[in-house]
Amino acid sequence: MNQAELQSLCIEAGESEFRGVQLFEWMYRHGIVSFDSMLNVKKSFREHLKEHCIIQTLQVEKRIKSKKDESIKILFRTWDNHFIETVSMANGDRHTVCLSSQAGCALDCSFCATGRQGFERNLSTGEIIDQLIFVRENIDQPITNVVFMGMGEPFHNYNNVLNASDIFHSPKGFNLASTRITISTAGLLPQIKQFISEKRRYKLAISLNAADDRVRNDIMPINKKWPIAELVNAGKEYSNQKKRLVMFEYVLLKGINDSENHALQLAQLLQGIPCKLNLIPYNETDGIYQRPEEKVITRFSEILYENRNEYLVLVRWSKGQDIDAGCGQLAGQKI
Ligand code: SAH
Repeated sequence: MNQAELQSLCIEAGESEFRGVQLFEWMYRHGIVSFDSMLNVKKSFREHLKEHCIIQTLQVEKRIKSKKDESIKILFRTWDNHFIETVSMANGDRHTVCLSSQAGCALDCSFCATGRQGFERNLSTGEIIDQLIFVRENIDQPITNVVFMGMGEPFHNYNNVLNASDIFHSPKGFNLASTRITISTAGLLPQIKQFISEKRRYKLAISLNAADDRVRNDIMPINKKWPIAELVNAGKEYSNQKKRLVMFEYVLLKGINDSENHALQLAQLLQGIPCKLNLIPYNETDGIYQRPEEKVITRFSEILYENRNEYLVLVRWSKGQDIDAGCGQLAGQKI
């Protein structure tokens, strides 16, 4: 619940509106997980809350730490037995938390482990927020960034993702700057347009993964509905309006989208588009794809770098690959 919803809950129970603000702060600023810890809320109302409300939506099943870097993957179970994963990535002063927005995913991108699992259901706003509360309460380093790049397609769960983001951003909640919250989409055009027209201030990332519609149709079936040119245009509109650069993600798949020609095509596509480009070397899942050799990755990024005018290029080496916590490796595995 956001603050307005908590306030109406309080009013309906005969309490003052201000109680709603207190509940909001207890839950999101202090991250308490029991009604009894709400010290400035009178006992009779705490009893009422215990009887009618749930304050913790997720159960922790497993927590795995990478041996190679500082990342930690947490497996949660929902009340109705769905499994979702969250990844905490600490790196120097930066601590980024990668959140899931759905159990499973409906999009069926051929290279992604979550996609192969099929769609189960949307996560509630509470289930999204509880992932972050758990990390904040259990991992020492202060959280600096949140990315919706875990399981699911955030824009298929638009309202809950945006509701949760607003609570992360609220000074009485998690107090994270809007520039530190990134929502990544596989390219749902109507929701991207909605996001722009609502003047949402969070960062937008679009998983492009190909510069050619034939290639993208093959690996991301959603492309048949909303092809590359429309996504790039929408990204441009976001960058221009927000003065905040859209990010395009591009997973490098050996023999599929990693040739010098593909790089030139991508460079051409992004000419004149103010954006950041994130190249993601493919992480192994049990699918059919492979990561290109390092020299191919380097050459690909050099071509983009040499041809760039308005965009910035960055190669993103995923963290936590040894614990299957890299991009595209989350599948809610129980063991
Ligand atoms: N559904 C959203 C949010 C997931 S973000 C989206 O598609 O944007 C996960 C990112 O990891 C996406 O950019 C996706 O293209 C990328 N990805 C998926 N599988 C991957 C894999 N096996 N290796 C590397 N990146 C992958």
